[in-house]
Amino acid sequence: MNEQHLSKRLEKVAEYVLHEGTIADIGSDHAYLPVYLVGNGICEYAIAGEVNEGPLASAREKIMQNQLQDKVEARLGNGLEVLEGRKADTVVVAGMGGPLIADILENGQAYLPDVKRLVLQPNIASDHVRRWLYKNGWSLIEEAAVEEDGHVYEVLCADRSGVNPYSKDDLEKQMWLGPYLIKQRNEAFMNKWKKEYDQLQRIKAQLQMAENARTEDRQKEMTQKLNWLEEVLG
Ligand code: SAM
Repeated sequence: MNEQHLSKRLEKVAEYVLHEGTIADIGSDHAYLPVYLVGNGICEYAIAGEVNEGPLASAREKIMQNQLQDKVEARLGNGLEVLEGRKADTVVVAGMGGPLIADILENGQAYLPDVKRLVLQPNIASDHVRRWLYKNGWSLIEEAAVEEDGHVYEVLCADRSGVNPYSKDDLEKQMWLGPYLIKQRNEAFMNKWKKEYDQLQRIKAQLQMAENARTEDRQKEMTQKLNWLEEVLG
């Protein structure tokens, strides 16, 4: 992968970005995504935000190599604070755990009113992200499961359209598995959850062996999740 040829995962992220205005990539590392989006004329301007100096330096180098200093700006800062004094149409937070992405959004609420679209790619625990979107008035409008090098990545796209993809029943199941992904059931999704099913069964067996009051709630949770997966995997 490089700034000309994105990974399958980042390609999907790029597809969901609004094809206009400014994009802010929070946790940008090598700035592959902002350089790709601006270099290909998909967005007019980009901010590559980084909390760490090392990845920030890599981002700056990549921007210079591509001579995009006037259109892609690398900024040092924690989460959305890199948007201070600058509006973004799309905010991307990719390649981190779901709880961290949800924290970044929660702590950056002050910077979100002008943002039209969020593209979020949690590596794990995407239910934390869905729950944050749901509680904070963002509509999940699309989701994708993409397989690359043996990993399955979920990419979530949200806006303020008011669309509600969740049906009334089993909200927690939909938060966990993804309301669109459950319906699509593509190969990547099925592969991910078949593996997870086996792992949950192993955990449940271990909990049963260590049976005591403390493991009871965990056992119930495992049973619920296994039931949901049986419904989805068929
Ligand atoms: N977004 C790129 C991608 O998807 O390929 C890079 C992902 S990399 C695994 C995560 C990056 O996020 C790291 O460079 C890390 O320094 C940065 N990061 C972690 N927490 C952050 C925060 N609170 N604010 C900004 N950047 C953060």
